[in-house]
Amino acid sequence: MNSGSIKRLLSPFTGFITVEKLIAYSGHRFILPFWHAVSDVPLPHLSQLYRVPTVSEFECDLDFLLKNYKPASVEDVFGLANNKGKSNQNLFFPSFDDGLAECYHVIAPILKKKGIQAAFFINPAFVGNKMLFHRLKSSLLLNSISQIKPSEIKSAEKLLPNRNIHQFLHKATFTDHSLLDGIAEIFGLDFELFLKQKQPYMSLQQIKELQADGFLIGTHGMDHREFFLSSEDEILEQISASMEFLIREINPQINTFAFPFTDFKVPNSVFEKANTERLWDLSFGTAGIKDETMKNHLQRIPMESGVSKEGEKVIKTEYIWYYLKSVFGKNKVRR
Ligand SMILES: [Zn+2]
Repeated sequence: MNSGSIKRLLSPFTGFITVEKLIAYSGHRFILPFWHAVSDVPLPHLSQLYRVPTVSEFECDLDFLLKNYKPASVEDVFGLANNKGKSNQNLFFPSFDDGLAECYHVIAPILKKKGIQAAFFINPAFVGNKMLFHRLKSSLLLNSISQIKPSEIKSAEKLLPNRNIHQFLHKATFTDHSLLDGIAEIFGLDFELFLKQKQPYMSLQQIKELQADGFLIGTHGMDHREFFLSSEDEILEQISASMEFLIREINPQINTFAFPFTDFKVPNSVFEKANTERLWDLSFGTAGIKDETMKNHLQRIPMESGVSKEGEKVIKTEYIWYYLKSVFGKNKVRR
């Protein structure tokens, strides 16, 4: 059983314990939840990847957070990293990955209304709808498959090494862009037209407006490729090129980087080089509540992982999971 399944089993029992008790047991008073999008309309480019909360679900999650934690400032987050991830106040700092249009149209207005600071991590290659992330291509194709004729599915499968389209689409990585484009052609889907008509990403102007409103803008790699499939040089190139874009176009108060997908299996030498060469001031992972040992690096809580649609349950489950792992001495990120 993987950790996701165990967390799903644990989540219904979280109602028996208060978050204050869980905070006290773990000592983690400062949490960093993250999402991608919030929407009341279906988003076929995301729906196969994670659960997109509605506006009322998102507001409910924020209200839970506001009841138990204070909204943190960017300076508080910086202080947290200097204090090895520990804080003596209950604080939360949300962030949002991939630079999707809902960040500008839906999320930022809610955060402003509630007086919450946050960070938005963008991929320069997608800004202004120049390119579609390979996972979004997969989601669009998976959503259209039920309307495709069996003969067309067969010809699409001829392009694939293992001839299984569902398996391929669920596992496609950045090396599969041209195969995804080939399948789209057979399915009669036009990714360029989708980018033009639907504008799934924010424009540079919209990102600049978020920064002017006091939000922190950071990067998330150039094109959201899988770092666990990339060489050390490729990873460093993705980090430095995206940070160059950030500094040139946005020039934020601090330079932040959120690892695409996960920081798991990223070699220590990448962190060490990025820190010595000052490629970033601060970096972020997605491992949930954990004791992090890497300098200038903080872990965030994935809120859309499917543990529960209620943010309160997701967060409480993270604490319980942290506690259970501590019994076996596994609550530290091993590097
Ligand atoms: Zn991402």
